[in-house]
Amino acid sequence: MVGGGPAGLTFARVLHRHDHPVTVLERDPAPDARPPGGTLDLHEKLGQLALDKAGALAEFHALSRPEGQAMRILDTDGTVLRDWRPRLGERANPEIDRGQLRDLLLGPLDVQWGRGVAEVVPGTRDGVLVRFADGGEEAFDLVVGADGAWSRVRPAVSSATPHYTGVTLVETSLDDVDTRHPDLARLIGDGSVAVYGVNRGLVAQRNSGGHVKVYAQFRAPLDWHLGLDPADAEAVRAHLLALFDGWADPALDLLRRGGAFVHRPLYVLPVSHTWAHVPGVTLLGDAAHLMPPLGVGANLAMLEGAELAEAVAAAPGDLDEAVRAFEERMWARAGRWAKMTVAGLERLVSPDPTDALALFDEIQGS
Ligand SMILES: Cc1cc2nc3c(=O)[nH]c(=O)nc-3n(C[C@H](O)[C@H](O)[C@H](O)COP(=O)(O)OP(=O)(O)OC[C@H]3O[C@@H](n4cnc5c(N)ncnc54)[C@H](O)[C@@H]3O)c2cc1C
Repeated sequence: MVGGGPAGLTFARVLHRHDHPVTVLERDPAPDARPPGGTLDLHEKLGQLALDKAGALAEFHALSRPEGQAMRILDTDGTVLRDWRPRLGERANPEIDRGQLRDLLLGPLDVQWGRGVAEVVPGTRDGVLVRFADGGEEAFDLVVGADGAWSRVRPAVSSATPHYTGVTLVETSLDDVDTRHPDLARLIGDGSVAVYGVNRGLVAQRNSGGHVKVYAQFRAPLDWHLGLDPADAEAVRAHLLALFDGWADPALDLLRRGGAFVHRPLYVLPVSHTWAHVPGVTLLGDAAHLMPPLGVGANLAMLEGAELAEAVAAAPGDLDEAVRAFEERMWARAGRWAKMTVAGLERLVSPDPTDALALFDEIQGS
């Protein structure tokens, strides 16, 4: 297994539960080597199902925040357009911090940290050869690439590469929001607040411990920040405030009071990305089907990890057939979600902000 993200760790946890050997190769030198990122909502029939297969659902329920499903939508002038709160006991999509999910999945696993993979060569005499960034090599019977958007395993099965969607996120964050920014804490509530304007939006999401992630999203060429030093927070802030000029103060305060800014251009793989099956190598999660971040990528990644692990554990004698059948299922399901999320991104960051509101109403009504 290459990659210790949601896909790789779920795959390894389910194999571990079936007493099946697995090696997890992760590039990061340690679990906390970089900030783990924001919060994830895990759907009952996707991420939560995967955790159930891993025997970790009860732990998830103990940590997750069902109240984090709340969502408030504002007009750019500050008018509240929607104020949706989950019913008591609603467990369809509870939120969990990525770091908490990672630690929960790591549990009993023995991950090999600091083992960045450079290349994978299938069909050698010894099996599938993994070449490491540090120059080492090791052979395996099956290599599963769960190494994310810029997968180093993917070239062994496919020539596809991610392309830019035309939409960029710039992320900032607020700490101790309840004590340091009580007005923004009230605005954000228990879950998220979103403001949609013409071709841009601002979303703030509560994480645990009073931490809030704020995402400015807008259509822009990939080099929109040319001439802007990304490390110069005040310059980026001034640029963003000019971009969102005229919006009501509570929305702009999310940018005014945020800390450092992180640039996240949104890339996707072609919708319905598939490949000719290659014995001994497959892909999971973002490595297989990178799609816009509309709340499903980690969910799919985890369910795929769990399903592939179950297939491998159930068919040690015919590993290749098990992987082949799994790929067909993964491609069909991921293809449907990729179409929905690509269309969803068009509506969320749209010339007509009522598109985003209509999308929200459709999702809540479904
Ligand atoms: C802002 C944002 C918000 C999102 N919100 C949600 C949400 O609410 N719900 C949801 O379901 N999805 C969400 N997503 C999508 C989700 O983050 C991804 O789909 C998910 O993380 C994919 O999991 P993965 O395991 O396939 O890949 P990753 O999470 O990218 O993990 C890949 C792992 O592989 C490691 N790695 C990379 N290269 C190598 C290498 N060469 N050798 C060894 N290891 C390597 C990385 O260090 C990493 O640990 C969001 C995405 C973004 C950007």
